[in-house]
Amino acid sequence: MNIHEYQAKQVLKGYGAPVADGVAITSADQAEAAAKQLPGPLYVVKSQIHAGGRGKGKFKELGADAKGGVRLAFSIEEAVAHAKEMLGNTLVTAQTGEAGKQVNRLYIEDGADIARELYCSLLVDRSVGQTAFVVSTEGGMDIEEVAHATPEKIHTIAINPEAGVTAENVAAINAALELTGDAAEDGKSLFPILYKAFVEKDMDMLEINPLIVMENGHLRVLDAKVSFDGNALYRHEDIRALRDETEEDAKEIEASKWDLAYVALDGNIGCMVNGAGLAMATMDIIKLYGKEPANFC
Ligand code: GDP
Ligand code: MG
Repeated sequence: MNIHEYQAKQVLKGYGAPVADGVAITSADQAEAAAKQLPGPLYVVKSQIHAGGRGKGKFKELGADAKGGVRLAFSIEEAVAHAKEMLGNTLVTAQTGEAGKQVNRLYIEDGADIARELYCSLLVDRSVGQTAFVVSTEGGMDIEEVAHATPEKIHTIAINPEAGVTAENVAAINAALELTGDAAEDGKSLFPILYKAFVEKDMDMLEINPLIVMENGHLRVLDAKVSFDGNALYRHEDIRALRDETEEDAKEIEASKWDLAYVALDGNIGCMVNGAGLAMATMDIIKLYGKEPANFC
């Protein structure tokens, strides 16, 4: 299950991670009051959809010259103007597919002065059977390109589940991210916090891109993308409450009411199969004969 950025930041804030203050809104008349709650003078107006690449995304209804789905504003008036232009329109990013996603929610956040943009994620590394940090100094909007062109710039630090995040692990992450001074001190608390949140909340991915070093030398979580293991949601009522069904496939929502393992796919041959292994084999056979399955069930 995926959640929005502002919700992910709320979860991480609960564990003590450094995130900016912000206010989520669903209509443009809430924008002014939201921005007034923040210190200024820099505001960031961020589309809340379950897809990344928002900064470089384009709104279908606006011209090619219009700004993207994450916008800086240097006054309350400008933040309000952005909110009016963005809400209700369809944002197309590298991750949404051509159809794009309607922006029904914005997050207005206190802006940061950025010195460096880093990449930091946590996932279950099946090759070593451990949760691992994947980090890079090359954070920001093009991590897929970094992984493709310069894989040596991506570092993986696996965490022994019995020991948790050790001082050696933190030192390795700090070194990989070239953190020094206050930022390295911040890392000593932040990386164990991220790991704790990941494990306790049964996340299967936590991606912070970018994690920033601010001009004042401290770390801040600037973007956060989190997904949770659906099989563990039964023990996290707080996380289940964050579900936004408007972001999900209607067929998958219906199937989940009946506890069915159902994944909607793009093809036109429906599959209803006993067991995941047979379902996989059936999909393979359909593809072998040049057709596409409509679902995994
Ligand atoms: P994404 O495009 O969906 O990954 O959205 P992000 O939250 O990562 O924002 C995209 C980019 O907007 C970041 O990489 C930053 O360059 C910029 N940005 C976001 N928040 C701020 C901020 O507080 N200050 C500044 N200066 N830039 C920001
Ligand atoms: Mg990002």
